[in-house]
Amino acid sequence: MDEQIVDVAILGAGPAGSVAAHELGKSGLSVVLIESGDTTDVHCIESFPQSGAPLAESTGLLSAICSAAYAPAQSMTLHWRAQAEVRDFGNAGPLLVHRRELHHALLSQARSASPATTVVKARVRKVQRVGELSIIETDTGRVKARLTLEARGRVEARRMKKPAGTHQRHALVALPFSVRCRSGVAAMSLEALPEAWVWLAHTGDGEAHGAIFQNASMLAGQSLQQRVSYGTSCIQNTRCLNQSTEALRFHTPTAADFIALDDPVINDACFAIGDAALARNPVASHGLVHALRSGVQAAAAVRTVLSAQHQSDAAFAFLRQKHSDAYRAALTATARAYTESRFNTAFWQCYASMKEPPVAPTFPMSQVLTLTEPLAQAPVLDGDFIHWAPAIALPLKQDYAVQIGPLAAAEIASACQPAAALPELAARLQRFHNRKIVADVFDALLAGGALSPV
Ligand SMILES: Cc1cc2nc3c(=O)[nH]c(=O)nc-3n(C[C@H](O)[C@H](O)[C@H](O)COP(=O)(O)OP(=O)(O)OC[C@H]3O[C@@H](n4cnc5c(N)ncnc54)[C@H](O)[C@@H]3O)c2cc1C
Repeated sequence: MDEQIVDVAILGAGPAGSVAAHELGKSGLSVVLIESGDTTDVHCIESFPQSGAPLAESTGLLSAICSAAYAPAQSMTLHWRAQAEVRDFGNAGPLLVHRRELHHALLSQARSASPATTVVKARVRKVQRVGELSIIETDTGRVKARLTLEARGRVEARRMKKPAGTHQRHALVALPFSVRCRSGVAAMSLEALPEAWVWLAHTGDGEAHGAIFQNASMLAGQSLQQRVSYGTSCIQNTRCLNQSTEALRFHTPTAADFIALDDPVINDACFAIGDAALARNPVASHGLVHALRSGVQAAAAVRTVLSAQHQSDAAFAFLRQKHSDAYRAALTATARAYTESRFNTAFWQCYASMKEPPVAPTFPMSQVLTLTEPLAQAPVLDGDFIHWAPAIALPLKQDYAVQIGPLAAAEIASACQPAAALPELAARLQRFHNRKIVADVFDALLAGGALSPV
């Protein structure tokens, strides 16, 4: 590989790296995407929730995702809580996507987004910052870049983790499996076992793919034969596969634990994205949507940092805010799923120490209220770039609002001065806005802890 100097080097062409490359290529920046292309025998199918479709559509990547998909799942059978449940998705089920085909489809979109995008098949060995450039050493040569996106997935997140600097509950490992089956209907099932859980997807074409998730210690030191007999006995104890387990094929175990970096901004010229920043426990699902979203957000941060007219610190603050939002959402979803399981063993209690989110206080109508914190500045994505905008602190959500409904933070803040009872604060805004909009604004302020008694 010849030595190249590019605007952005993206390390890893999974969904996060490819989406970021696609976005940056469209912006006219020169991009090199470095992918080792290791084809390991990992899990084969992933679910992509319909809630991710608008984001995929807005980036122009929905049809690429659909091209890698089987039919949407029609239902999900849960043997999770005390009572079995069946969720019927109608036409709105998650897409069952072929993981490797999805990666190829997104990479192909990234490649064709711009002639200034190159894809290099190489293994990244080392990254170092020298002056204004990052130097990326690979097994086929060197790349120099102004900025780097670290997108090498959850293995990289584990490597970067510092003992006190990550949030790792336990070493969860997935043991993927495949089996030929009789079902011609695309459907999923999820089942809790005392020391594991099992996810299974029937693709609708006579194949089923799934994984058993358990603590790494359950598989440690096992030979292939022992692993097969352990996996087979787990599946025999489930109700998700209603047939003989003879034809089960097991694949290479893969890490699946919940890991989050404290800070996705590794330094002023390198940001972690996708699983490399925050790898969700797959029970919380949405890993693909998170990868897509973080690729888009990182591209906006890169454009902002590389543009002379914009402030880099807004981009860094934006990435940190989005990372902490995603971390809280993933932790809440995982803790909820684990708490709802019908078992109460140590395996299921590992998220039990999580605090419940604080409940918003209620105030009598006559209580005089004011903003809990003065109007602040928060980073906001506006078009292609990130900038600072006036924002109201929502301390209970550890967030800021630059806008609530159609109303900007500055207008809301000015209506909250001087301090007054809720009906008076609302009346000030109702001079210019309808009752429903104003009611929604105050609901959001109260739920976020933005108003306090004087
Ligand atoms: C068992 C399991 C089941 C899952 N099921 C679902 C699901 O059903 N739905 C869902 O939404 N999510 C699921 N996920 C999560 C989903 O797979 C990830 O969130 C998503 O793939 C993250 O994308 P990424 O681009 O950040 O990382 P990856 O997809 O991990 O991509 C990283 C890329 O970096 C490359 N790379 C690594 N090291 C190097 C190197 N040194 N040099 C060059 N390239 C390198 C890799 O080859 C890879 O292509 C599951 C995860 C697991 C483990």
